[in-house]
Amino acid sequence: MSKIYYTKPSIGEREIEYVLDAVRNGWGEQCYDYINRFEREFAAYLGLPYALATSSCTGALHLGLRALNIGPGDEVILADTNWIASAAPVFYVGATPVLVDVLEDSWCLDPAAVERAITPRSKAIIAVHLYGNLAALDELQVLADRHGLALIEDAAEALGSVWRGHKAGSCSTFSVFSFHGTKVMTTGEGGMLATRDEALLKRVQQLNNHGRAAGDLRQFWPCELGHKYKMSNLQAALGCAQLERIDELVAHKREVFAVYREQLLTAIPGASMNPQAADCLNSYWMPTLVLPLALAERRDLVLQQMIQSGIDARIFFQPLSDTPVFADLPPVSTPRAHDLALRSFNLPSYHELTITEQQRVIDAILQGLRV
Ligand SMILES: *Cc1c(COP(=O)(O)O)cnc(C)c1O
Repeated sequence: MSKIYYTKPSIGEREIEYVLDAVRNGWGEQCYDYINRFEREFAAYLGLPYALATSSCTGALHLGLRALNIGPGDEVILADTNWIASAAPVFYVGATPVLVDVLEDSWCLDPAAVERAITPRSKAIIAVHLYGNLAALDELQVLADRHGLALIEDAAEALGSVWRGHKAGSCSTFSVFSFHGTKVMTTGEGGMLATRDEALLKRVQQLNNHGRAAGDLRQFWPCELGHKYKMSNLQAALGCAQLERIDELVAHKREVFAVYREQLLTAIPGASMNPQAADCLNSYWMPTLVLPLALAERRDLVLQQMIQSGIDARIFFQPLSDTPVFADLPPVSTPRAHDLALRSFNLPSYHELTITEQQRVIDAILQGLRV
């Protein structure tokens, strides 16, 4: 019985062709060709003028926070339900992450909780579109405008999702993406920062070039302390090929999700999965099942059953506030983040997942639940 992974990249002939071309020819004069093309085409896909390719989403977020001059004494608000990558850059710049609760249905930032957390020190809101679900961008933008905050989208999990006619990651001061091997599309490792603000783009470009000013004729002359989170041309070649297939990759995620939803929500009354709000499209990066309260204590039995059946089983993100990273910060009250963490888990959803394999996943879940 073959193992079923929870995610796996889909690599076609085009990907191999572009990477081979980059490795053969992408040097000297051509050493930025795929990078420039990937940035241009990615920005165009989002409907934005600018994008900067990076070595990771974490690095892109670090650069963006620095470009906004966020630093010691400043606060940045984000959801307690998150992977550490969305919060770590706030620590890197010396600011304080303020964790707030999420909404019951979207598992993303609760705007009312954000509003309560705003203080004179607040500088930005990081809206993470969790598992493909869209954060409440309209309400968050109202709060950001009213209090003079930047709204940042961490769209690493929502490439391909659409919010009221706008691609996820095109509705904020800047957005960040990840091309880690588990994401909708991959460059192995890699990330992107996207924005419609030309001045912000120039800031992040300079910061990502070790602080060397564009056009400075002096050699080896940083005019400020910067970083180096660059994407290689080889990775960008892979990114160009994956981006050409993005609609196909997203469409398949949605097909996989539809099969799970149809069968699991019928078989498990009271369960829920990733929502898709009116006028929105969810790319369903990570199909996630939330068990009803009555079955919550069976969650770990289900995960055991999946592992026994050769299926990767991943729990929902645990509240960041419970991790040692946040031990020195004031305690927060995030009951929904804690509740969701106990009764939810992620389902396998890679491109080549067959319907037979999906059936094996569904059978293992129902067996574990004994429903
Ligand atoms: C994967 C992920 C990241 C981290 O991306 P890297 O490229 O590994 O740095 C950040 N935020 C979210 C929401 C993610 O899912």
